[in-house]
Amino acid sequence: MAPRPPLALSAVGLFCLACVVAPPGLAEECPGHPGALGTSRTLVVDPREHPRIGTMQYPESLPLADHEVVLTFDDGPLPRNSNKVLEILAEQCVKATFFEIGLMAKASPEGIRKLRDAGHTIGTHTQDHPLSMNHMSTERAKQEIDAGIASVKAALGDGADTALAPFFRIPGLLRADNVEQYLAAQGIQIWSADLVADDWHHISPSRVYDLAIKRLEANRKGILLLHDIQARTAAALPRILNELKARGYHIVHVVPATADRPATPTDPQQWLSHPRIENGLIAHWPKIPNFVFADLGQLPVPAFSDLGPPDTQPTALAGFDQRAQAAAPWPQQSPPLLGSKVSLPAPDQSLFERPIGFAFTLQRIAAASHRAEQVASRRREAGAKLASAATRQSQGLNRRPAGRGHRAATRPHHASSEVAARPAPPAAAGHRGPSKRLVQVKKKNA
Ligand SMILES: [Zn+2]
Repeated sequence: MAPRPPLALSAVGLFCLACVVAPPGLAEECPGHPGALGTSRTLVVDPREHPRIGTMQYPESLPLADHEVVLTFDDGPLPRNSNKVLEILAEQCVKATFFEIGLMAKASPEGIRKLRDAGHTIGTHTQDHPLSMNHMSTERAKQEIDAGIASVKAALGDGADTALAPFFRIPGLLRADNVEQYLAAQGIQIWSADLVADDWHHISPSRVYDLAIKRLEANRKGILLLHDIQARTAAALPRILNELKARGYHIVHVVPATADRPATPTDPQQWLSHPRIENGLIAHWPKIPNFVFADLGQLPVPAFSDLGPPDTQPTALAGFDQRAQAAAPWPQQSPPLLGSKVSLPAPDQSLFERPIGFAFTLQRIAAASHRAEQVASRRREAGAKLASAATRQSQGLNRRPAGRGHRAATRPHHASSEVAARPAPPAAAGHRGPSKRLVQVKKKNA
């Protein structure tokens, strides 16, 4: 890929070298919820001044003060979970930014209007969430971007031009120069992220909470990427928000500058000031985050029924989870890919749980990425170690019996050599098929 273009400093910012981000003020009043977290301030940004943000991939991110957080939610609207997220945010008087998918907006246009009516910021996330924008023709990328915007605008109806922010998040964060150039030419700001909570994985709500708080505490501020379509995220969100309040964090609501609403004055340095870089923990992020390729394998077959009836109360995603688990070898636990010192956040890989049918192209992406090979190599090593350990244990047990036990006792040794020489199975190979319980559930539902 071509090297990143030099950072364009804000012309406005040059006149504001002495400016500082206003300290978090008092939370806006939240009638009926005196203990609410609230939204401490509104940050107005000019996409043309700062076309790409998010330290996971770019030098710049939002000019947040210490302990300031911007909440973002991707891939909606999916009524049964998105509505729950909206209720939780309303109870806390918290404003967030939503990156909506065009086809989802077509399926649930009322979900888009609810965002607008609640005062949240609405951005877009392509028409059908392709995980291939890193090697897509400009013309094809343009179609995806423009169609996504058109679908969300159609859902918004009158006033769509003002209700829709020129904010965009690339699916899977799979950036490419031509895509960035097209978006910049349109005056659309690309949002990567500073933090994620892995909420697209099959992890518990408690784990989502743990990751969100742990990474935020390490970063002390930032753009947090979540998914309102996920039941686990809706389940984790109340605890996350309560903990943010308890730990003294402040929510910042981001809106685009308009003719009537000038950008918040900032110092250019504030867009570059991020703990990860300052502390030298992470000097630079890969242009394509490697974790996108970490869990390749058979993907779940999306079911339209996963969309659920419109405006239903969110329910536990038990059925959805079971279907997905039955259909695909879900990783139960991600292997430590990069050592223990730095835990890199993972990008949006939520297409793995797409509730509607999209064309999956991860296999081609994987073929183009040497990172997949690195991951596979590490898994092979881990598999060999496990097999070796199992063999040693087996030998210890088999040596005890006398008589014909001799051949049996020697077999595991050769078997272990074969195992060690073979590529290790995918991390979730043990979960390739539906469990006995899932089969029972299926039969019951049939
Ligand atoms: Zn997404």
